[in-house]
Amino acid sequence: RELPGDPRTDIMPRQVFHSCYSKVSPSVLVENPQLVAWSESVAGILDLDPKEFERPDFPLLFSGASPLVGGFPYAQCYGGHQFGSWAGQLGDGRAITLGELVNSKLQRWELQLKGAGKTPYSRFADGLAVLRSSIREFLCSEAMYNLGIPTTRALSLVTTGKYVTRDMFYDGNPKDEPGAVVCRVAQSFLRFGSFQLHASRGKEDLEIVKTLANYTIKHHFPHIENLSKSDSLSFSTGLENDSVVDLTSNKYAAWSVEVAERTASLIASWQGVGFTHGVMNTDNMSVLGLTIDYGPFGFLDAFDPSFTPNTTDLPGRRYCFSNQPDVGLWNIAQFVYTLSAASLINEHETNYALERYATRFMDDYQGVMTKKLGLPKYNKQLISNLLNNMAVDKVDYTNFFRLLSNIKADVTTPDEELLIPLKPVLLDIGQERKEAWTSWVKIYIEELSGSGVPDEERKALMNSVNPKYILRNYLCQTAIDMAEQGDFEEVRRLLKVMERPYDDQPGMDKYARLPPAWAYRPGVSMLSCSS
Ligand code: AMP
Ligand code: MG
Ligand code: MG
Repeated sequence: RELPGDPRTDIMPRQVFHSCYSKVSPSVLVENPQLVAWSESVAGILDLDPKEFERPDFPLLFSGASPLVGGFPYAQCYGGHQFGSWAGQLGDGRAITLGELVNSKLQRWELQLKGAGKTPYSRFADGLAVLRSSIREFLCSEAMYNLGIPTTRALSLVTTGKYVTRDMFYDGNPKDEPGAVVCRVAQSFLRFGSFQLHASRGKEDLEIVKTLANYTIKHHFPHIENLSKSDSLSFSTGLENDSVVDLTSNKYAAWSVEVAERTASLIASWQGVGFTHGVMNTDNMSVLGLTIDYGPFGFLDAFDPSFTPNTTDLPGRRYCFSNQPDVGLWNIAQFVYTLSAASLINEHETNYALERYATRFMDDYQGVMTKKLGLPKYNKQLISNLLNNMAVDKVDYTNFFRLLSNIKADVTTPDEELLIPLKPVLLDIGQERKEAWTSWVKIYIEELSGSGVPDEERKALMNSVNPKYILRNYLCQTAIDMAEQGDFEEVRRLLKVMERPYDDQPGMDKYARLPPAWAYRPGVSMLSCSS
């Protein structure tokens, strides 16, 4: 680690060499900070009594204005590839870890404040976060968790009571916005870029890659640390020369495979719910396979494979919805090349991890789509025809699959009745498109009827993977608009609804509605990186 300067003042932007982190304390200014919302489930993980959130000093502690007793605040040093180019050192420019907490189950959780002031990694920026983007990160972290998708969590959201100036991308005029701080929680915030940076700095720092890998495996992949020869973990690579990779002989190889597979699974689950991350730079890729860094993300409304919620990514659309699986592979490649540069894995092992990414992605993605359609087995043609139809008619991705479970597996259904269950999502389609959909539904029903699974049973299974409620950007925006006026009720309501995305919640149908026309104005469905 870096030799400590004065942690309170040593925030001069600089290159930090030979170090994984810098000691730095929050420096955020507050004026009557307020608790906007908190997550009961994250409080549970941390063994925090709900009464703690009523403490008058809670907003001071969790904005970073008052130091947390027993804390060890620091900012991590990492690098990354941004939009395909190596960007050098990046680091936690506005996130400060308060420390780690070991809970009653002996799990170790890291608590991190986002928006609590500058660090040595803030470069030209202010180290702060606005309420708008903090609400989005807070709600989406918890929404993703409740969808069953691996993610960093969010304990609390507080306003600072101070204003932060931001350039709004759509009119170029700076705007003062309320500041806020999210307390993020994860077992680790280590990223691909945490390893890449040291490998990029020459021979001397390759040893740091190894030290950090040892640390990560010991604390976060203990089952790999304890791999022994008696576990049979040899695999054929399936490559032409059919070399065998023995994962028990090299823990780094076993680890690289696990990171590759976790990343593949993560991205398959994103595709399943229509989540588009928006900024899949390698500094935003977690080595634990968690969704990390909620910026200009978006869930699909109308199905559009080229959906790109990040305006900074136009016109290239590197990180559009349908590119995520390939980008995941590109990112994993950067990660394993780093391990290879540090001589932790050889060429065979490097290629093997990449192959396992591809295999795992295909297995998981096929599994996810098969379940979404309630099919007895994977049917490539049926699924690809469906997605084509959905793209042509701009069909809502979430509501379509939810309604699909109402179709009866009855091959005697008359043609004119086949589309009735899908009516609310097949809007304004002409005769020709109706015919296309009718013929698709016919084939679908034939496929279902072969399985012998009763309609009600299939519906329950499909509803357990096809959410009814999804954190659409326009829902976030409504909560943001109210919160900016000092009313936090909608943030809290949205959090509650998104805690049970797969359940029909009486009286909450408005949270499952298609976006209204105003949702397509700039700044609602499309956002920039900087917020
Ligand atoms: P992101 O695109 O959110 O992954 O951010 C890229 C880099 O910019 C990271 O090193 C962030 O810590 C840094 N960064 C983003 N916003 C700010 C900010 N307001 N102040 C300081 N650093 C920032
Ligand atoms: Mg980031
Ligand atoms: Mg960010």
